[in-house]
Amino acid sequence: MSKGSGKTSKDCAVDAFRDGLALDLALSYTDWADECFYLPRESSSEYGRYRSARTPFVREILDDLSPMSPAETVVLIKPTQTAGTTIGLIFLCGMIDMYPGPALMIMPTDSMARSFSKKKLAPTIKAVPRLRSKVKEQKSRAGGNTILQKDFPGGSLALTGSNSGASYRSESIKYLVLDDFDGFELDIDGEGSPEELADRRTGTFPGRKIYINSTTTTKDASNIERAFDHSSQGYFHVPCPHCGGLQYLTWGGKDTDFGIKFERNEAGDVVDCWYQCEHCHQRIDEHHKTAMCAAGVYVHRYPERVKTRGFRYNALVSPAGWVNSWAYIAKKFLEAAAELKQGNPQKYQVWMNSFMSEPFEQVGDRPEWATIKARAEPYQALTVPAGAMILAAGVDVQHNRLAVSVWAYGRKEESWLIYHIEIHGDPMHDDVWQQLDLLISGTFPGGGGVQHHISSVGVDAGDGATTQAVRNYCRTRAPKVFALKGSSTPGRPVVGAPTKQDLTWNGEKIEDGVEMWPIGTDTAKVTIYTRMKINDPGPGRIHTYVGLDDEYYEQLTAEKLVTRFVKGYPVREWHNVRGSKRNEALDCAVYAYAAAIRAGLPYLDLKSELKPPPVVRRPANNHAPARRKRW
Ligand SMILES: [Zn+2]
Repeated sequence: MSKGSGKTSKDCAVDAFRDGLALDLALSYTDWADECFYLPRESSSEYGRYRSARTPFVREILDDLSPMSPAETVVLIKPTQTAGTTIGLIFLCGMIDMYPGPALMIMPTDSMARSFSKKKLAPTIKAVPRLRSKVKEQKSRAGGNTILQKDFPGGSLALTGSNSGASYRSESIKYLVLDDFDGFELDIDGEGSPEELADRRTGTFPGRKIYINSTTTTKDASNIERAFDHSSQGYFHVPCPHCGGLQYLTWGGKDTDFGIKFERNEAGDVVDCWYQCEHCHQRIDEHHKTAMCAAGVYVHRYPERVKTRGFRYNALVSPAGWVNSWAYIAKKFLEAAAELKQGNPQKYQVWMNSFMSEPFEQVGDRPEWATIKARAEPYQALTVPAGAMILAAGVDVQHNRLAVSVWAYGRKEESWLIYHIEIHGDPMHDDVWQQLDLLISGTFPGGGGVQHHISSVGVDAGDGATTQAVRNYCRTRAPKVFALKGSSTPGRPVVGAPTKQDLTWNGEKIEDGVEMWPIGTDTAKVTIYTRMKINDPGPGRIHTYVGLDDEYYEQLTAEKLVTRFVKGYPVREWHNVRGSKRNEALDCAVYAYAAAIRAGLPYLDLKSELKPPPVVRRPANNHAPARRKRW
């Protein structure tokens, strides 16, 4: 493996290390970690002296990151919370100690980079005795160390977000970490993919190392899957305790003769869980796991790819004592599968990505509009059917009209369209907005004489001439009315964290100013399309009323999920199959769904009795402080 980590030289080096901290070490990162690395109490459940034997699947990864290996790029697909971050920390800390040079770590966003630096990196540097004197405490900019910049003898480490393209272009670097790669922006400022940029930045350095890691997301649009495809594609295999056959532990499934198997009691709880060997089909109990993993090896599909090494392991090899026991993973599977059956694919995707390290194949088939129309039900428009608890509206803004849908939502996200209308007129003028006010401040009769109010209204701010008009409208009606902006990146939550939009004359954000809410349109569309195929009343079912014309249904099903190739990379996109014809009904449904989530839709199932939702009134006048209520 390495010329520098033979037993004798290692022993010498370690003796030297024990004699005095100032002496230089030249170990592989695995050996260095076992001798010198400590996990801080602040951020680790297993803090203190690091032992690579606890997680044997990290060793080959650390060895390939070491200077003795010819590998230049190391790609890791990992489950969540199983050693992925620790590998990056060992690489960076060992580098600072033994092989210092210019280094850059990129995370999806600047704020994630800041948080990683404060909560993980700084405590770790403090916990590793050999680094304390090398990396000075962060005090001031003048001292060379800030949150996003760590200087040390022989090099420096910069941290940044993939959303700040400028920082990629400065001086060249030897070590690059792309962390949580599936969260990256695909094309940074028109400069190409992050890999291309990274390649240019490290291109001139001999002995360069690029470490790319992430959990995976969706099949045809995952950055890390693409990087892994070009790698040696190593899977962590472990030997069966009965027959010795090597295998990559995986879920298997109900109809397979290998994988995780379990038994449930009458209450549905997992009471027994084991692994069935794919070779001898015998039962392997979890207490064998520690010994099996200790004897584990990566089996590479393309071992000749020595420059680009790929690694994949999943939560089934988590060390004994960590939360991810096989029975726990089975329990989580059952929960996710139950939600999937109800037309809610999100939890299942999270389970596939976080536990199995496998991508999720999204369902983007277009529902047949005539089938959905034929299913329409005889309730009246503008009335609220039994079972509905929250009303929310979605508004799509075009240059000559607003399209508005009001939807009602009940338990388990069952939903009913209450009304769809187009308000014609120029959004730059007040009349369309006044008509919208009339609609969204109205009451809607439900069963038993209850009058329902709309709790939440999402208005698309787009990025055209109408954006300012939308902001002005939302500013004085927050928090009931909010401006939103769609993000088509797969895997984004339906409702993200808002950003402040109003600035003072010198560019500071105004605390009570209008907010922009990012909406994961891809996630929402996949969810809505999956649910349109549910025929039985109950969880996830989407209801419409009799009387809507064909145009509404054609708009509602106007988009299709396609994979397009940009510069050779697959990119998932939603295409309007109607060409230039309208598709606002689907957008309105997406925005209303996001508005309902803001209004507390995920918490409806926790309520014990049916009652009309609270009315949120807008402030009495423009000068009143906006209410800061959050759902
Ligand atoms: Zn076996």
